[in-house]
Amino acid sequence: MKIKIPTHEDYQSHDGLHYYQLWNSIGDEWLCPACGRSKFQIMKWTQRFPNTPHSFMGWVAALHKHHDHSIGFFEPGQTRFPETLICGQCNSTDGVVKRMLNLPSNFSFSPQEMRTFIQATPHGKHKINYDQALEIFNLRATNKNGIPKVY
Ligand SMILES: [Zn+2]
Repeated sequence: MKIKIPTHEDYQSHDGLHYYQLWNSIGDEWLCPACGRSKFQIMKWTQRFPNTPHSFMGWVAALHKHHDHSIGFFEPGQTRFPETLICGQCNSTDGVVKRMLNLPSNFSFSPQEMRTFIQATPHGKHKINYDQALEIFNLRATNKNGIPKVY
């Protein structure tokens, strides 16, 4: 399927939908730290309100504040990364990977870790390298002596 590319006007006129505050808080130079795509490149031609009579196609470029859900998961009381603004696709990738690999739901991949297993396409869908994601999790879940931690 050919990827639809937004025009400059589409980009300029995008109002940010339900994430308008985050959309307006970043400039053209912003790059998603988890996939490396720009504010323009995260725009994706998307079905809005799917499975409703009001469904239509439109530009979506959702943004999320990615929290570390794994506070105290490896080191008691310690977050592994600060709250970071990432694109909606990266945010859902974190959840999809955890479900697919059956990882603890209170674990979160950092944006830098996601970058190693996400293959991003401008205005398109992410490709996920699950083997790499599992390897990262297993590395993090192993203590300094190489012994797996018990959850
Ligand atoms: Zn992203």
